[in-house]
Amino acid sequence: MQTYTNGASTNGTGAQVENVIIIGSGPAGFTAGLYTARANLNPLLITGNEYGGQVSLTYEVENYPGFPESLSGPELVEKMKAQAEKFGTRVEFDYVKEIVVDRHPFLVRTTNGQEYATKAIILATGARPRYLEIPGEKELTGKGISYCATCDGFFFRGKDVLVIGGGDSAAEEAIFLTRYASRVRLVHRRDKLRASKILQERIFNNEKIEFVWNTVLTEIVGEDGKVVAVKTQDTVTGAEGRLDTDGVFIFVGHLPNNDLIKGKFDMDEDGHLITDRFGRTNIPGIFAGGEIMDKVFKQVATSVGQGCAAAMQTTKFMEELEAHGTLDLTQDPRDFGVSGLKKQEALGTW
Ligand code: NAP
Repeated sequence: MQTYTNGASTNGTGAQVENVIIIGSGPAGFTAGLYTARANLNPLLITGNEYGGQVSLTYEVENYPGFPESLSGPELVEKMKAQAEKFGTRVEFDYVKEIVVDRHPFLVRTTNGQEYATKAIILATGARPRYLEIPGEKELTGKGISYCATCDGFFFRGKDVLVIGGGDSAAEEAIFLTRYASRVRLVHRRDKLRASKILQERIFNNEKIEFVWNTVLTEIVGEDGKVVAVKTQDTVTGAEGRLDTDGVFIFVGHLPNNDLIKGKFDMDEDGHLITDRFGRTNIPGIFAGGEIMDKVFKQVATSVGQGCAAAMQTTKFMEELEAHGTLDLTQDPRDFGVSGLKKQEALGTW
């Protein structure tokens, strides 16, 4: 069995114990890297398979402060990575398949066959697009169905496409698709958009976009392995219909990437990790930020703030761990990392 030294460096018999491993490479993860690196914790950040997270799929980020000219999602991710690395964050392109949290140091296992021991973990695994879960969806994904207009819009030059959903993502991506597609129809289950006012204004003023209100998809129809139509149902009258199309872009929300935490951590009914407002989970030494724990805001700016909070709490936790020597995993996590605060003040949740 592998043994681990309880320090920052390897000795002859045991492998290195990391101070903190950050899991995820979106805005929350890189911000946690930046802050823990500047706290001299020498963090290791493991990217996951979706490098950069959801924002890396965004063509233009207009609402992250500090960039009035706006910039692309991938550009923002590269800047965040560069800033985290500048202060010493080590970035590994690997995918964490398991974390062992009933012992300390915790263990982190990856698909590349690495096993790390670590004193603290920051979970920033983010979210993934929600599926419609209707017939034809799985089979035709990549054959006319997409969850990323920025990635796939180019392939629909001169084609007819449907955008499904009524939130910010659907509105933004529908506008983006008008660059390529000859016809863009936004299909929404109600007769009002959920998207922010500024996006609503833009989308209603865009002459290339048509709206199909009060409509849900019941099936996506393919022929010769590619999308040719969708079957629909009117949510008011129940009437069934069909829309012929070349492509279906689905933006009906996001689900937290919670495979690592199921059965080990407190989660809400939608599968978000429950933390308090300090980013602490129910296990002392494990913190979280970004869309894994954020059910409400889901903005780059809020993910950055949550990654920052998780990193600052991790730093306090490490100071206290240093002082105590060992970690009692049965201890109330609120006993850690709130020096200077009365316990009551630390109880709030998001
Ligand atoms: P969202 O705000 O949750 O919107 C999801 C949309 O999909 C809603 O309109 C919802 O309808 C619809 N929907 C959900 N399930 C459906 C189903 N089974 N069938 C048909 N329609 C369904 O998700 P999002 O647009 O991906 O945005 C997620 C978060 O990211 C939000 O907080 C958003 O503000 C943020 N975001 C921000 C920006 C930006 O600031 N530029 C860009 C993208 C995303 P109902 O309206 O009827 O519920």
